[in-house]
Amino acid sequence: MKSNQSNIKKAKKYLDSNECIAVPTETVYGLAGNAYSDFSAKKIFKLKKRPSNNPLIVHYYNLKALEHDCIINEDFKKLYNKFSPGPITYVLKLKKNSKISKFVTNNKNTVAIRFPKHKLLRKLLKVLSYPLAAPSANISSKLSSVQPSDVKEEFGRKLKYILKGGRCSIGVESTIIKLTDTPSILRLGGLSVSKIKKIIKKQILIKNKSKNKISPGLFSLHYSPGIPLRMNVKKPNEGEAFVLIKKRKTNSKNYFFLSKNNNLIKAARNLYPLIRKIKNKGYKKIAVEKIPNIGIGQTINDRLERASKY
Ligand code: AMP
Ligand code: MG
Repeated sequence: MKSNQSNIKKAKKYLDSNECIAVPTETVYGLAGNAYSDFSAKKIFKLKKRPSNNPLIVHYYNLKALEHDCIINEDFKKLYNKFSPGPITYVLKLKKNSKISKFVTNNKNTVAIRFPKHKLLRKLLKVLSYPLAAPSANISSKLSSVQPSDVKEEFGRKLKYILKGGRCSIGVESTIIKLTDTPSILRLGGLSVSKIKKIIKKQILIKNKSKNKISPGLFSLHYSPGIPLRMNVKKPNEGEAFVLIKKRKTNSKNYFFLSKNNNLIKAARNLYPLIRKIKNKGYKKIAVEKIPNIGIGQTINDRLERASKY
């Protein structure tokens, strides 16, 4: 408890002086900076080697902290009351006098916002006088980080501080929904679309594969392990690591399991670290068996598909 408090103090000190640090969230680790500071925003893009036209998600403690920056609407209120804090990001209209850096939004008149649930991050957000711009803590287009050691692997000494908050409980990024007109899903994520549908009870467009890239993070290659990956595989080829959804008895050293018993939520949590582990073991190719395309399984398949565009 005490050490948490001194770590939060340390994190605040870095952020107040416009440094970037890594922070834990329930989805994936974030590379965070003051969302009101041009300097911090530019630093995030530089550290991640992220194209400047790919805007960042802004993380808030609560609605009060948000009211100066965005225009909210009925769909937002319904979803916020049900799912926030949690793994859902809303794209809303920016207010004219918003203090968010134009580098965060890439000069758009909309902004992506989220209310993370991780306790330590909430404690930090509560003591800050600004929201945090925080994309995933990984080099652009690579695998996201879900534990402090992943963040270290991505950035090494270039990153001054990691606020350590254990392993991410969800392990895949947030679901992004645009609410400025007809609700549309821009990215599948930790919250399933069926749950969202039950709350807003109207048509939701699924635009995560749209050719007209509203969300630049939808560029096809993403979440890349840096080695080729094939999906829907029944039998692996010689030398391939084989990823299965459910544990089974085998003498093959190249078999890896996403969950003990077909659990898609656990499989999502294990996805990135397992792929990272396989790569670090020196495998040159990955084969993945067919993953059921239901609930969070849709998010797993989305990530695998992008990772396979190597
Ligand atoms: P990451 O920061 O890696 O979690 O990715 C954030 C995602 O949010 C990217 O896919 C961005 O393109 C998307 N995003 C951020 N701001 C906006 C916005 N104003 N409109 C649409 N998508 C956005
Ligand atoms: Mg990312």
